[in-house]
Amino acid sequence: MSRTSIARLSAAALFFLLAWIAYTQNPAAPPQLTINKVKDDLYEIEGDGGNVAVLVTREGVVLVDDKYDQDHDAILAKVRSVTDQPVKYILTTHHHGDHSGGNAKFISSAQIISTANARKNILEHKQGNAPAGMEPARLTFTDQASVFVGGKEVRAYYFGRGHTNGDAVVYFPELRTLHTGDLMAGTSPLIDYPGGGSIVEWTKTLDAAMKLDFETVIPGHGAVTNKAGLQTYRDNVAKLRTRVSGLIHEGKSKDEVAKFLTAEYHWQPDSLPMQWSLPGMMTELK
Ligand SMILES: [Zn+2]
Repeated sequence: MSRTSIARLSAAALFFLLAWIAYTQNPAAPPQLTINKVKDDLYEIEGDGGNVAVLVTREGVVLVDDKYDQDHDAILAKVRSVTDQPVKYILTTHHHGDHSGGNAKFISSAQIISTANARKNILEHKQGNAPAGMEPARLTFTDQASVFVGGKEVRAYYFGRGHTNGDAVVYFPELRTLHTGDLMAGTSPLIDYPGGGSIVEWTKTLDAAMKLDFETVIPGHGAVTNKAGLQTYRDNVAKLRTRVSGLIHEGKSKDEVAKFLTAEYHWQPDSLPMQWSLPGMMTELK
């Protein structure tokens, strides 16, 4: 081995050693969250996981979702930046760790409410890559539930399958605002078939939600939008379903459909949508 290659090798070894020290000394930077005002007394917290809605009342705060376990302190700090009221209720949109992961730390001080299926999915470990120590809601509902606090109402509905088999949409009637959970998230849908999701039912579920009287939409991930934005998202889900169904009926293989999804929808090989959504779509859209 030449002297230069030995030098290169030691430089590489040093680099990995320093990277390893940096990793072990500082495993994760504290989560950076931002809080934005949506309406009077309604805020949303973005960053690291799903969007959290914050409704302030004179008798306590209602949250929609609580991100990951690691975000607990940062969420509380953001809530404290707008009110001194304690968090009393958390309405959960679904069982995924980036929306329900904070339950474990909140459960001793707040009532957590989810669909019956979202609770079941946590208990049955339906999310293969979920963080350890997930805590399910202790109050559940099947069709509809309301929380009345401080003269305000927050209503959760289950309209059917979509992203999972337990997605709640959370409605603030007085503020004409809807939190969709991951029924609207990102640019193309993640259909969690292992968690009971369905691309066929997804649009029907959103059509039922569209019948509510609202103007503002807080999606599961991404910027706050409006009813027209949700309609566009719904139409894009329908378009994806039609395109993939067409390919399957032309006799295209799973690999060929995967290539189409990478080219047109930027689904990367081995990504979560490829793992969770593609095999299920091949079966459901046959
Ligand atoms: Zn999700």
